[in-house]
Amino acid sequence: MTTAQEECKGCGKCCKQGGPALHRHDLDLVRSGKIPITSLITIRKGELVHNPLTGAVQPVAVELVKIKGAGKQWDCCYHDGTKGCTIYDYRPQACRALKCWDTEAVIALIEKDTLSRTDILQEDHFILPAIREQDRTYPCHGLQKIQGSRHQLSAELKDQLEKMAGDEMRFRMQIIARFQLQLSDELFYFGRPFFQLLQALGVRVSESPSAGIRLHWDR
Ligand code: SF4
Ligand code: SF4
Repeated sequence: MTTAQEECKGCGKCCKQGGPALHRHDLDLVRSGKIPITSLITIRKGELVHNPLTGAVQPVAVELVKIKGAGKQWDCCYHDGTKGCTIYDYRPQACRALKCWDTEAVIALIEKDTLSRTDILQEDHFILPAIREQDRTYPCHGLQKIQGSRHQLSAELKDQLEKMAGDEMRFRMQIIARFQLQLSDELFYFGRPFFQLLQALGVRVSESPSAGIRLHWDR
């Protein structure tokens, strides 16, 4: 899309639509700590997200690592309402490419040469076996099917999903305790908990010490 506008007015509107996905070009920013992993969130392959190309909520074809959002509106965590971008001099490639008046360059970056957790972490990093186990045991590839047929799912599948949501939560809590991870690193290492991905599909979730995570499919 091209409009009559020719330069950035610094309004920050684009930064209020969430943080950008990182690309290979940004690897040194993370490795050097300029953008620490505490500022990142992983979107696992198959998670449902808004696709700006189609305007629809669709599964991501590749794993993405994005800058976290903050506040109720999930603005990019580096956006300051007064000062604008607080990492402007070393903002990621997608932010440099973004011209709201001419979106061709930023559209060309969608799901192209993006960074994943394995690109960022050294290959002998202690957390990688746990990341692989999470992807193998609690994959996201079924979410689209649930999105399309939430009201027609069998009782058996609902039970399986409830068990998976509870097991995945216990899995990540065990790993956090075993390696004494900071909770602020969790969204990068493991992305959002599986039950939250179901919540985004309209499934109501409750949790109690006695019953654990329960899914409610009543709306
Ligand atoms: S690129 Fe556009 S939306 Fe983003 S800050 Fe500049 S003028 Fe505002
Ligand atoms: S990193 Fe900076 S330019 Fe990029 S979205 Fe965040 S606040 Fe905006």
